[in-house]
Amino acid sequence: MRFAVISDIHSNLAALQSVFKDIDARGVDHVYCLGDIVGYGPSPNECIQLVRERCTAVVMGNHDSGVLGKTPLTHFNEFGRSAIKWTKKEITPEHLLYLNSLPLLAVHGDVTLAHASPMDPSDWIYIMTWPAAQRCFESFKTKLCFIGHTHVPVTITEGASTNQFTRNSRHLINVGSVGQPRDGKPQASFYLVDTEEWTAENIRTGYEIQETAKAIEHAGLPDFLAERLFLGI
Ligand code: ZN
Repeated sequence: MRFAVISDIHSNLAALQSVFKDIDARGVDHVYCLGDIVGYGPSPNECIQLVRERCTAVVMGNHDSGVLGKTPLTHFNEFGRSAIKWTKKEITPEHLLYLNSLPLLAVHGDVTLAHASPMDPSDWIYIMTWPAAQRCFESFKTKLCFIGHTHVPVTITEGASTNQFTRNSRHLINVGSVGQPRDGKPQASFYLVDTEEWTAENIRTGYEIQETAKAIEHAGLPDFLAERLFLGI
């Protein structure tokens, strides 16, 4: 089986469309989404629509939860807060219901999906260190677990200090962010996994950042939310 895992779209339609085009060209059986479909960006309804149509399994992110009023606004920085307030005005009732239907955790065969971590998904903790990543392995039973939230892609192998993607080990994979990468590379990030070949590859896809930046300006969202996209921060 070949599948793609996407996360942290953040209402960036141009990035999401480019990623789906790339995924289609490579051919996959499933696309999984780790949440934060909305927040920060200018196209929440269009992004939710696409994710609903294209993804086999979707979990809820903290920005989705923020728009639903389930995670308090104090949890977010000023840019996150203003975008959540803006999104609340823009989102259709149907799409709000859809976000509300999303689980915090999903298990599909040998794959666990969570937005921030599999430990206590609604705590929205950031897995930034090797010890924190290793602790995650106690909280899932599958061979693979995918997370997002930090917007920085990385593959962690259980018990190993370097990534060794082998069939005999378990792995925690942060797939990075489609709509707001923060690892200094502005290209949209996702993972492509082949369970026959047993490969997991971080793919980077370029898109028209200018298009999203213009839409951010048009929506009246903070300028920084456009500027950061060009820098990958
Ligand atoms: Zn995010």
